[in-house]
Amino acid sequence: MTSPEGSFAGPNPAPASRVVALCGGVGGAKLALGLESVLAQGQLTIGVNTGDDFEFLGLCISPDLDTVLYTLAGLSDPVRGWGRCDESWNFMAALEQLGGENWFSLGDRDLALHVERTRRLRAGETLSAVTGDLARRFGLRAEVLPMTDQPVHTLIHTAEGALPFQDYFVKLRCAPCVTDISFSGAAEASANPALIGALADPKLSAVVICPSNPFLSIDPILAVPGVRAALERTPAPIVVVSPIVGGRAVKGPTAKIMGELGLAVNSKMIAAHYAGLIDGMVIDDSDAADSEHLGVPAHVTRTLMRTAGDKCKLAGAVLSFARALDEGAMPRHTENA
Ligand code: GDP
Repeated sequence: MTSPEGSFAGPNPAPASRVVALCGGVGGAKLALGLESVLAQGQLTIGVNTGDDFEFLGLCISPDLDTVLYTLAGLSDPVRGWGRCDESWNFMAALEQLGGENWFSLGDRDLALHVERTRRLRAGETLSAVTGDLARRFGLRAEVLPMTDQPVHTLIHTAEGALPFQDYFVKLRCAPCVTDISFSGAAEASANPALIGALADPKLSAVVICPSNPFLSIDPILAVPGVRAALERTPAPIVVVSPIVGGRAVKGPTAKIMGELGLAVNSKMIAAHYAGLIDGMVIDDSDAADSEHLGVPAHVTRTLMRTAGDKCKLAGAVLSFARALDEGAMPRHTENA
């Protein structure tokens, strides 16, 4: 298989095999794009966090799903890191002039997606159905699945009380000190049956936990009943890519939250967070010293994804590492449990 830049020549899973990736927004979507590029049509299923979803201006917004859709469609804004490329802001400017709520920015093209999704959800379609159709319309080769079709809301607990996720993340720019994080509605939600089905597929060759924020992006997925159990049951190797590079988060509040929760900011702590679930961890060259202390086998490589080539190379390395784990060269979580 060849990447868009023709640079990937590493071993892939057999053509009939399947890979599941768990993913949040910007950091996770970078690796999801790499995986989509090195895998064939229909091989990749991406389970996406919906704990960030909220209603704004009467519209149903799913920030992580949209980031994944736009990124895989080649429509994401590479400079801002969120929203669509070739965006204009007439709606927001007009709204501001009217004194409307404008703390969350919706570009004109982006707005179309929210309006259409909201219409279809209100007409009774599920978030999965709408997302699947959007993915098809964007021409994606991967299957994109919300973790659940029921509402789950990430709550950020601070000394001043609990904040809805977007109030913390966007309105307050992650400034409040986090004391705890919870996922309202998760216990009552049902996992997306297609995600559980993919995890139980005998053709599954690897589960990849993308380098998303473990606390804000992956934990909500794991909090939905059935997901963790499905991961524990799968014989396929589960590999996580650390979001820590050089002892720091590449972007966003991961390192800040770890500090506030009293955790050291390193890949060892990320591995401890996923202890019992993962079979291996991919860490950056700059954190190679951590590789002996993860409690699971490590693969050390460049994990910073700046170019399309970086994303494809990392995706290839992750899949090769998973294959090595699967071939029994290294101990597995099922054997450790
Ligand atoms: P969000 O929902 O938009 O905040 O995105 P995610 O939760 O998916 O990703 C945020 C995490 O991605 C942060 O902890 C970053 O450190 C990590 N991240 C972003 N870019 C990279 C990268 O190129 N390599 C690695 N290893 N991690 C990255």
